[in-house]
Amino acid sequence: MQVYFDNASTTKIDSRVLDAMLPFLKENYGNASSIHSFGSKTRVAIESSRELIADFIGAIPSEIYFTSGGTEAINFIINGIAKTNFLESGKNELITSKIEHKAVLDTHKNLEHSGLKTKFVKINNDGHFNIDSLKNNITEKTSLISLMHTNNEIGTVNDIEPIFNHLNEDQFLFCDCVQAFGKSIIDVNKLKVHALSASAHKIYGPKGIGFAFVKSGTPLSPLIFGGSQERSRRGGTENVASIVGLAEAVRIAKTEMEENHVLASKLNANLQKGIKQVFGDKISINATENNTPYILSITFKNEYFRNDIDTFLMALDINGVAASQGSACTSGTIKPSHVILGIGESVEDANGTIRFSFNPKNTIQEVDYVLGVLEKLGKQNLK
Ligand code: PLP
Repeated sequence: MQVYFDNASTTKIDSRVLDAMLPFLKENYGNASSIHSFGSKTRVAIESSRELIADFIGAIPSEIYFTSGGTEAINFIINGIAKTNFLESGKNELITSKIEHKAVLDTHKNLEHSGLKTKFVKINNDGHFNIDSLKNNITEKTSLISLMHTNNEIGTVNDIEPIFNHLNEDQFLFCDCVQAFGKSIIDVNKLKVHALSASAHKIYGPKGIGFAFVKSGTPLSPLIFGGSQERSRRGGTENVASIVGLAEAVRIAKTEMEENHVLASKLNANLQKGIKQVFGDKISINATENNTPYILSITFKNEYFRNDIDTFLMALDINGVAASQGSACTSGTIKPSHVILGIGESVEDANGTIRFSFNPKNTIQEVDYVLGVLEKLGKQNLK
Protein backbone atom coordinates (compact mmCIF):
# COMPACT_ATOMS: atom_id res chain seq x y z
CA MET A 1 0.00 0.00 0.00
CA GLN A 2 1.14 3.56 -0.71
CA VAL A 3 -0.20 6.24 1.62
CA TYR A 4 0.34 9.94 1.04
CA PHE A 5 0.04 11.71 4.39
CA ASP A 6 2.10 14.75 3.41
CA ASN A 7 -0.63 17.04 2.14
CA ALA A 8 0.64 20.05 4.08
CA SER A 9 3.75 19.90 1.86
CA THR A 10 1.69 19.77 -1.28
CA THR A 11 -1.44 18.14 -2.67
CA LYS A 12 -2.40 16.23 -5.77
CA ILE A 13 -4.12 18.48 -8.27
CA ASP A 14 -7.91 18.06 -8.43
CA SER A 15 -8.95 16.84 -11.89
CA ARG A 16 -11.57 19.61 -12.08
CA VAL A 17 -8.79 22.15 -11.57
CA LEU A 18 -6.71 20.58 -14.32
CA ASP A 19 -9.71 20.56 -16.67
CA ALA A 20 -10.30 24.26 -16.00
CA MET A 21 -6.64 25.04 -16.73
CA LEU A 22 -6.15 23.06 -19.93
CA PRO A 23 -7.91 25.45 -22.34
CA PHE A 24 -5.54 28.20 -21.15
CA LEU A 25 -2.53 26.01 -21.97
CA LYS A 26 -3.88 24.98 -25.37
CA GLU A 27 -6.19 27.27 -27.31
CA ASN A 28 -6.52 30.38 -25.07
CA TYR A 29 -2.89 31.40 -25.07
CA GLY A 30 -3.14 35.14 -25.63
CA ASN A 31 -1.13 37.60 -23.56
CA ALA A 32 -3.61 39.28 -21.22
CA SER A 33 -2.01 42.67 -21.93
CA SER A 34 -2.69 42.42 -25.68
CA ILE A 35 -5.59 44.40 -27.02
CA HIS A 36 -6.76 41.78 -29.56
CA SER A 37 -9.40 39.16 -28.83
CA PHE A 38 -6.82 36.52 -27.83
CA GLY A 39 -5.64 38.89 -25.11
CA SER A 40 -9.07 39.97 -23.96
CA LYS A 41 -10.12 36.34 -23.46
CA THR A 42 -7.29 35.73 -21.02
CA ARG A 43 -7.77 39.15 -19.39
CA VAL A 44 -11.39 38.24 -18.66
CA ALA A 45 -10.28 34.89 -17.19
CA ILE A 46 -7.76 36.62 -14.91
CA GLU A 47 -10.16 39.29 -13.72
CA SER A 48 -13.02 36.88 -13.06
CA SER A 49 -10.59 34.66 -11.11
CA ARG A 50 -9.55 37.71 -9.09
CA GLU A 51 -13.20 38.55 -8.35
CA LEU A 52 -13.98 35.03 -7.19
CA ILE A 53 -10.95 34.92 -4.88
CA ALA A 54 -11.59 38.40 -3.49
CA ASP A 55 -15.21 37.48 -2.75
CA PHE A 56 -14.06 34.28 -0.99
CA ILE A 57 -12.05 36.27 1.59
CA GLY A 58 -14.22 39.38 1.84
CA ALA A 59 -11.80 41.59 -0.10
CA ILE A 60 -12.23 43.75 -3.18
CA PRO A 61 -10.64 42.51 -6.44
CA SER A 62 -8.02 45.29 -6.61
CA GLU A 63 -6.65 44.08 -3.26
CA ILE A 64 -5.60 40.72 -4.78
CA TYR A 65 -2.11 40.40 -6.34
CA PHE A 66 -1.25 37.13 -8.07
CA THR A 67 2.20 35.78 -7.23
CA SER A 68 4.24 32.66 -7.91
CA GLY A 69 3.03 31.16 -4.63
CA GLY A 70 3.07 31.65 -0.89
CA THR A 71 6.77 32.40 -0.61
CA GLU A 72 6.64 35.23 -3.13
CA ALA A 73 3.47 36.64 -1.57
CA ILE A 74 5.23 36.69 1.82
CA ASN A 75 8.34 38.38 0.40
CA PHE A 76 6.20 40.91 -1.44
CA ILE A 77 4.07 41.78 1.58
CA ILE A 78 6.78 42.00 4.22
CA ASN A 79 9.31 43.85 2.04
CA GLY A 80 6.67 46.01 0.40
CA ILE A 81 5.02 47.18 3.60
CA ALA A 82 8.08 47.34 5.86
CA LYS A 83 10.29 49.30 3.45
CA THR A 84 7.57 51.73 2.37
CA ASN A 85 6.33 52.37 5.89
CA PHE A 86 9.92 52.93 7.04
CA LEU A 87 10.33 55.60 4.36
CA GLU A 88 6.97 57.21 5.06
CA SER A 89 6.80 57.08 8.86
CA GLY A 90 10.32 56.17 10.03
CA LYS A 91 9.00 53.13 11.86
CA ASN A 92 11.73 50.50 11.84
CA GLU A 93 10.56 47.69 14.12
CA LEU A 94 9.04 44.45 12.92
CA ILE A 95 7.49 41.76 15.08
CA THR A 96 7.18 38.09 14.23
CA SER A 97 7.65 34.71 15.93
CA LYS A 98 10.34 32.05 15.74
CA ILE A 99 7.91 29.40 14.52
CA GLU A 100 6.89 31.13 11.29
CA HIS A 101 7.60 29.64 7.88
CA LYS A 102 11.18 30.22 6.67
CA ALA A 103 9.85 32.58 3.99
CA VAL A 104 8.79 34.93 6.79
CA LEU A 105 11.88 34.42 8.96
CA ASP A 106 14.41 34.84 6.15
CA THR A 107 12.64 37.91 4.75
CA HIS A 108 12.88 39.53 8.18
CA LYS A 109 16.55 38.60 8.43
CA ASN A 110 17.23 40.17 5.06
CA LEU A 111 15.49 43.41 6.07
CA GLU A 112 18.20 43.99 8.69
CA HIS A 113 20.34 45.19 5.75
CA SER A 114 17.77 47.94 5.16
CA GLY A 115 17.95 49.17 8.74
CA LEU A 116 14.92 47.31 10.08
CA LYS A 117 14.98 45.37 13.33
CA THR A 118 12.94 42.29 14.20
CA LYS A 119 11.57 41.42 17.61
CA PHE A 120 10.23 37.96 18.36
CA VAL A 121 7.01 37.39 20.22
CA LYS A 122 7.13 34.57 22.80
CA ILE A 123 5.52 31.28 21.90
CA ASN A 124 3.64 29.33 24.56
CA ASN A 125 4.43 25.62 24.96
CA ASP A 126 1.18 24.79 23.21
CA GLY A 127 2.40 26.57 20.06
CA HIS A 128 0.26 29.73 20.24
CA PHE A 129 1.84 33.16 20.36
CA ASN A 130 1.76 34.86 23.75
CA ILE A 131 -0.53 37.87 23.62
CA ASP A 132 1.14 39.61 26.60
CA SER A 133 4.53 39.25 24.97
CA LEU A 134 3.07 40.71 21.78
CA LYS A 135 1.58 43.69 23.64
CA ASN A 136 4.90 44.28 25.43
CA ASN A 137 6.79 44.26 22.14
CA ILE A 138 4.58 46.82 20.40
CA THR A 139 6.08 50.32 20.60
CA GLU A 140 5.80 53.64 18.77
CA LYS A 141 8.39 52.26 16.33
CA THR A 142 6.42 49.13 15.40
CA SER A 143 5.73 49.02 11.69
CA LEU A 144 4.56 45.51 10.83
CA ILE A 145 3.49 42.43 12.75
CA SER A 146 3.71 39.11 10.86
CA LEU A 147 2.07 36.17 12.57
CA MET A 148 0.77 33.04 10.93
CA HIS A 149 -2.76 31.71 11.04
CA THR A 150 -2.24 27.92 11.00
CA ASN A 151 1.20 26.52 11.73
CA ASN A 152 2.43 24.27 8.95
CA GLU A 153 4.29 21.85 11.23
CA ILE A 154 2.10 21.42 14.30
CA GLY A 155 -1.24 22.72 13.03
CA THR A 156 -1.92 25.20 15.84
CA VAL A 157 -4.36 27.98 14.94
CA ASN A 158 -3.61 31.45 16.25
CA ASP A 159 -6.23 33.95 17.36
CA ILE A 160 -5.34 36.81 15.00
CA GLU A 161 -8.42 38.99 15.40
CA PRO A 162 -7.59 40.72 18.73
CA ILE A 163 -4.21 41.99 17.47
CA PHE A 164 -5.71 44.81 15.42
CA ASN A 165 -6.95 46.60 18.56
CA HIS A 166 -3.37 47.13 19.69
CA LEU A 167 -2.27 48.91 16.51
CA ASN A 168 -2.22 52.56 15.46
CA GLU A 169 -3.16 53.63 11.97
CA ASP A 170 0.38 53.38 10.57
CA GLN A 171 1.06 49.97 12.09
CA PHE A 172 0.19 46.94 9.99
CA LEU A 173 -0.72 43.31 10.46
CA PHE A 174 0.16 40.51 8.06
CA CYS A 175 -1.05 36.94 8.48
CA ASP A 176 0.47 34.01 6.59
CA CYS A 177 -2.62 31.99 5.71
CA VAL A 178 -0.98 29.44 3.40
CA GLN A 179 -2.05 26.46 5.55
CA ALA A 180 -5.47 27.87 6.37
CA PHE A 181 -6.71 29.25 3.06
CA GLY A 182 -9.37 27.02 1.50
CA LYS A 183 -9.51 24.86 4.62
CA SER A 184 -10.80 27.26 7.26
CA ILE A 185 -12.97 30.33 6.82
CA ILE A 186 -10.69 33.26 6.09
CA ASP A 187 -12.43 36.62 6.05
CA VAL A 188 -10.12 39.62 6.02
CA ASN A 189 -12.73 41.78 7.71
CA LYS A 190 -13.12 39.40 10.63
CA LEU A 191 -9.38 38.71 10.95
CA LYS A 192 -8.79 42.48 10.65
CA VAL A 193 -5.52 42.03 8.77
CA HIS A 194 -3.88 44.42 6.33
CA ALA A 195 -2.32 41.61 4.34
CA LEU A 196 -2.38 37.87 3.91
CA SER A 197 -0.63 35.23 1.81
CA ALA A 198 -2.13 32.13 0.20
CA SER A 199 -1.04 29.37 -2.15
CA ALA A 200 -2.88 27.07 -4.58
CA HIS A 201 -0.89 23.85 -4.24
CA LYS A 202 -1.98 23.29 -0.65
CA ILE A 203 -5.61 23.06 -1.77
CA TYR A 204 -5.47 20.75 -4.81
CA GLY A 205 -4.47 23.54 -7.18
CA PRO A 206 -1.31 23.88 -9.28
CA LYS A 207 2.12 24.60 -7.84
CA GLY A 208 3.76 27.97 -8.45
CA ILE A 209 0.70 30.19 -8.03
CA GLY A 210 -0.70 32.04 -5.06
CA PHE A 211 -1.70 35.53 -4.12
CA ALA A 212 -1.17 38.35 -1.71
CA PHE A 213 -4.13 40.25 -0.32
CA VAL A 214 -3.12 43.78 0.60
CA LYS A 215 -5.80 46.11 1.93
CA SER A 216 -6.16 49.26 -0.11
CA GLY A 217 -4.39 52.21 1.49
CA THR A 218 -1.62 50.03 2.96
CA PRO A 219 1.87 51.28 2.07
CA LEU A 220 3.31 48.85 -0.48
CA SER A 221 6.14 48.77 -3.01
CA PRO A 222 6.73 46.18 -5.76
CA LEU A 223 8.99 43.20 -5.30
CA ILE A 224 9.28 42.49 -9.02
CA PHE A 225 9.77 45.42 -11.37
CA GLY A 226 9.43 45.49 -15.12
CA GLY A 227 5.82 45.62 -16.17
CA SER A 228 2.50 47.23 -15.38
CA GLN A 229 0.82 43.94 -14.53
CA GLU A 230 -0.93 43.63 -11.17
CA ARG A 231 -1.36 47.41 -10.99
CA SER A 232 2.43 47.85 -11.48
CA ARG A 233 3.13 46.03 -8.24
CA ARG A 234 4.19 42.69 -9.75
CA GLY A 235 5.67 42.82 -13.20
CA GLY A 236 5.65 39.84 -15.59
CA THR A 237 3.24 38.24 -18.05
CA GLU A 238 0.51 36.58 -16.01
CA ASN A 239 0.44 32.81 -15.49
CA VAL A 240 -3.12 32.60 -16.79
CA ALA A 241 -3.66 28.83 -16.64
CA SER A 242 -2.45 28.69 -13.06
CA ILE A 243 -4.52 31.71 -12.03
CA VAL A 244 -7.58 29.97 -13.49
CA GLY A 245 -6.52 26.78 -11.65
CA LEU A 246 -6.24 28.66 -8.37
CA ALA A 247 -9.71 30.15 -8.87
CA GLU A 248 -11.16 26.72 -9.65
CA ALA A 249 -9.55 25.30 -6.48
CA VAL A 250 -11.21 28.15 -4.57
CA ARG A 251 -14.57 27.53 -6.23
CA ILE A 252 -14.36 23.89 -5.13
CA ALA A 253 -13.19 24.82 -1.62
CA LYS A 254 -16.17 27.15 -1.27
CA THR A 255 -18.61 24.27 -1.62
CA GLU A 256 -16.58 21.43 -0.11
CA MET A 257 -14.65 23.07 2.72
CA GLU A 258 -17.08 22.14 5.48
CA GLU A 259 -17.44 18.54 4.39
CA ASN A 260 -13.67 18.23 3.97
CA HIS A 261 -13.16 19.53 7.49
CA VAL A 262 -15.35 16.75 8.87
CA LEU A 263 -13.51 14.11 6.82
CA ALA A 264 -10.07 15.37 7.86
CA SER A 265 -11.19 15.49 11.53
CA LYS A 266 -12.21 11.84 11.33
CA LEU A 267 -8.88 10.77 9.84
CA ASN A 268 -6.94 12.81 12.37
CA ALA A 269 -8.96 11.54 15.35
CA ASN A 270 -8.54 7.93 14.28
CA LEU A 271 -4.81 8.21 13.75
CA GLN A 272 -4.39 10.08 17.02
CA LYS A 273 -6.42 7.53 18.96
CA GLY A 274 -4.54 4.60 17.43
CA ILE A 275 -1.16 6.16 18.13
CA LYS A 276 -2.12 6.82 21.76
CA GLN A 277 -3.30 3.23 22.14
CA VAL A 278 -0.05 1.84 20.77
CA PHE A 279 2.48 4.16 22.40
CA GLY A 280 0.73 5.61 25.48
CA ASP A 281 2.81 8.32 27.11
CA LYS A 282 5.98 7.37 25.23
CA ILE A 283 4.89 9.88 22.62
CA SER A 284 3.38 13.34 22.79
CA ILE A 285 0.84 14.82 20.42
CA ASN A 286 1.74 18.38 19.45
CA ALA A 287 -1.80 19.67 19.31
CA THR A 288 -4.34 21.76 21.14
CA GLU A 289 -8.13 21.69 21.06
CA ASN A 290 -8.45 24.17 18.23
CA ASN A 291 -5.80 22.62 15.94
CA THR A 292 -6.47 22.26 12.25
CA PRO A 293 -7.66 18.69 11.61
CA TYR A 294 -5.43 18.55 8.54
CA ILE A 295 -2.19 18.21 10.51
CA LEU A 296 -1.12 15.75 13.19
CA SER A 297 2.34 16.17 14.68
CA ILE A 298 3.70 13.54 17.07
CA THR A 299 6.93 13.35 19.02
CA PHE A 300 8.54 10.06 19.92
CA LYS A 301 10.01 10.93 23.31
CA ASN A 302 13.77 10.64 23.27
CA GLU A 303 13.87 8.89 26.65
CA TYR A 304 12.22 5.84 25.06
CA PHE A 305 13.26 5.87 21.40
CA ARG A 306 16.43 6.07 19.34
CA ASN A 307 15.33 9.25 17.60
CA ASP A 308 16.80 9.78 14.16
CA ILE A 309 14.40 11.66 11.93
CA ASP A 310 16.08 10.87 8.57
CA THR A 311 16.15 7.13 9.22
CA PHE A 312 12.60 7.13 10.55
CA LEU A 313 11.16 8.99 7.57
CA MET A 314 13.07 6.73 5.21
CA ALA A 315 11.78 3.63 6.99
CA LEU A 316 8.23 5.01 6.70
CA ASP A 317 8.80 5.59 3.00
CA ILE A 318 10.16 2.06 2.46
CA ASN A 319 6.94 0.85 4.09
CA GLY A 320 4.86 2.94 1.70
CA VAL A 321 4.09 5.88 3.99
CA ALA A 322 4.87 9.43 2.87
CA ALA A 323 5.06 11.73 5.89
CA SER A 324 7.50 14.47 6.79
CA GLN A 325 9.31 16.17 9.56
CA GLY A 326 7.34 19.33 9.23
CA SER A 327 8.25 21.54 6.37
CA ALA A 328 9.45 20.26 3.02
CA CYS A 329 13.21 19.73 3.17
CA THR A 330 14.93 22.17 0.83
CA SER A 331 18.56 21.65 1.74
CA GLY A 332 19.00 17.89 1.29
CA THR A 333 19.64 17.31 4.98
CA ILE A 334 17.00 17.37 7.67
CA LYS A 335 17.74 19.66 10.58
CA PRO A 336 15.81 19.64 13.86
CA SER A 337 12.61 21.57 13.27
CA HIS A 338 12.78 25.23 14.29
CA VAL A 339 9.09 24.99 15.17
CA ILE A 340 9.48 22.08 17.58
CA LEU A 341 12.49 23.83 19.11
CA GLY A 342 10.47 27.06 19.17
CA ILE A 343 7.77 25.51 21.36
CA GLY A 344 10.44 24.56 23.87
CA GLU A 345 11.18 20.94 22.95
CA SER A 346 14.71 19.52 23.05
CA VAL A 347 16.82 18.83 19.94
CA GLU A 348 16.48 15.10 20.71
CA ASP A 349 12.69 15.29 20.80
CA ALA A 350 12.66 17.46 17.67
CA ASN A 351 14.57 14.62 16.01
CA GLY A 352 11.71 12.29 16.85
CA THR A 353 8.90 14.49 15.56
CA ILE A 354 6.91 13.63 12.46
CA ARG A 355 3.99 15.29 10.76
CA PHE A 356 1.11 13.51 9.11
CA SER A 357 -1.10 15.73 7.01
CA PHE A 358 -4.35 14.74 5.39
CA ASN A 359 -6.39 15.11 2.28
CA PRO A 360 -10.14 14.45 2.67
CA LYS A 361 -9.75 11.73 0.05
CA ASN A 362 -7.47 9.74 2.39
CA THR A 363 -9.25 6.77 3.96
CA ILE A 364 -9.62 5.04 7.33
CA GLN A 365 -8.00 1.97 5.73
CA GLU A 366 -4.95 4.11 5.08
CA VAL A 367 -4.97 5.29 8.70
CA ASP A 368 -5.06 1.65 9.86
CA TYR A 369 -2.21 0.77 7.54
CA VAL A 370 -0.07 3.66 8.84
CA LEU A 371 -0.80 2.62 12.43
CA GLY A 372 0.47 -0.87 11.66
CA VAL A 373 3.68 0.51 10.16
CA LEU A 374 4.19 2.91 13.09
CA GLU A 375 3.73 0.11 15.61
CA LYS A 376 6.30 -2.05 13.82
CA LEU A 377 8.87 0.74 13.45
CA GLY A 378 8.25 2.13 16.93
CA LYS A 379 8.97 -1.22 18.53
CA GLN A 380 12.16 -1.62 16.48
CA ASN A 381 13.25 1.83 17.61
CA LEU A 382 12.70 1.40 21.35
CA LYS A 383 15.86 2.02 23.36
N1 PLP B 1 3.79 29.57 4.56
C1 PLP B 1 3.43 28.39 5.08
C2 PLP B 1 2.79 28.35 6.42
C3 PLP B 1 3.62 27.21 4.35
O1 PLP B 1 3.26 26.05 4.87
C4 PLP B 1 4.23 27.30 3.08
C5 PLP B 1 4.53 26.08 2.30
O2 PLP B 1 4.84 25.04 2.86
C6 PLP B 1 4.57 28.56 2.57
C7 PLP B 1 4.35 29.67 3.35
C8 PLP B 1 5.20 28.72 1.21
O3 PLP B 1 4.26 28.53 0.20
P1 PLP B 1 4.70 28.12 -1.29
O4 PLP B 1 5.10 26.67 -1.23
O5 PLP B 1 3.48 28.34 -2.13
O6 PLP B 1 5.83 29.00 -1.68
